[in-house]
Amino acid sequence: MELSKRVQAVVPSATLALSTKAKQLKKEGLDVVNLTAGEPNFQTPQHIKKAAIKAIEEGRSDFYTPALGITELRQKIAEYTNEQYGTHYGIKNTAVTVGGKFSLYAIAQTILDPGDEVLIPLPYWVSYSEQVKLAGGKAVFVLPKEGHLKITPAQLEQARTDKTKAVIINSPQNPSGVIYSRAELEALGNWAVENNIWLIADDMYNKLVYNGNSFVSLVQLSEAIREQTILVNGFSKTYSMTGWRVGYTLAPEPVIAKLKAVVGHATGNLAAVSQYAALEAITGDQTCVEEMRAEYEERLNTFYPLINEIPGFSMKGKPAGAFYLFPDIREALEKTGFADADQFAQALLGEAFVAVVPGEAFGMPGHIRLSYATSMLDLEKAARRIKKFVEQHS
Ligand code: PLP
Repeated sequence: MELSKRVQAVVPSATLALSTKAKQLKKEGLDVVNLTAGEPNFQTPQHIKKAAIKAIEEGRSDFYTPALGITELRQKIAEYTNEQYGTHYGIKNTAVTVGGKFSLYAIAQTILDPGDEVLIPLPYWVSYSEQVKLAGGKAVFVLPKEGHLKITPAQLEQARTDKTKAVIINSPQNPSGVIYSRAELEALGNWAVENNIWLIADDMYNKLVYNGNSFVSLVQLSEAIREQTILVNGFSKTYSMTGWRVGYTLAPEPVIAKLKAVVGHATGNLAAVSQYAALEAITGDQTCVEEMRAEYEERLNTFYPLINEIPGFSMKGKPAGAFYLFPDIREALEKTGFADADQFAQALLGEAFVAVVPGEAFGMPGHIRLSYATSMLDLEKAARRIKKFVEQHS
């Protein structure tokens, strides 16, 4: 029996496959350093867990909630966003979903017709293209200028057709950690407005910004840009809550009204207990956010120079946000004779017990992604092993 063409075109997540393999080897007793994780290695802060337990004990988490979330949480998310960005979102602009991942999935379902094209700058987060395909759309990848990790309107314009419906901007970016400046975003936003194209702003890492760099969101720039922007964020990275699956979208009212239908028929509401945990996260003590951010910053400042000095590895400046390094290893591939980053990563795991994600998974061969959402001890160990591995194969 045939499966749908849509589903046959979708590929499973490469990041998940590699981290599964690394976990398996670890289980077998091998001393594996796993740098594939796309999630914080901190426990969810205690006060958030306690609020969830209280919600369970008081029977507040036992029933369906409205599809887009409990009113208090939607209200607080709107206020929290307005405080940061100077926007004027209300409940009707706000949807709570099963992770930011499902926000993005539901957005694709909400705005795309079959054949519509979505511009996805490279490198990109693995799920964007597959979500677009599942909605019947076409993912159009846009390569930055050689030597760059950010796109400009010139490259978008080259890729634009009369079918272009949206562009996804992720800043701080997974996998590279680059952040778009205000001027760069303004140029992209104005281009989208001129061409009547939706902007999907994935701000998932907006609280993980380091060493005095600053973050600006597309929705801060102008009324015209905001009206065409669908904003995605979540609690996974900021509050170390990946397992709770809390994400959200802010957008013009008509978008949220239709998103409600998609969410209502697809998942129904996000688990009520997670919503109460999120309510505490966003209204409670915020010191945990800064503590975790500061810890990532220290790791970046230690790990970046160690990786940068590996022969044949180069980075386009120090990453400004998120928790990944994305070195260009093309020179190292030449030195070591590995055909591509995928082969390099497989051998690195097999021989040196360090798991990384090859750039192919993000549409940018010749690179690898190393997550520093792990202990400092592991990071130092990994850097030593990778260096030795490259030297031995050179
Ligand atoms: N966007 C980016 C760029 C991500 O890296 C992730 C998670 O890895 C997500 C969205 C989705 O996160 P979640 O579904 O946990 O909210």
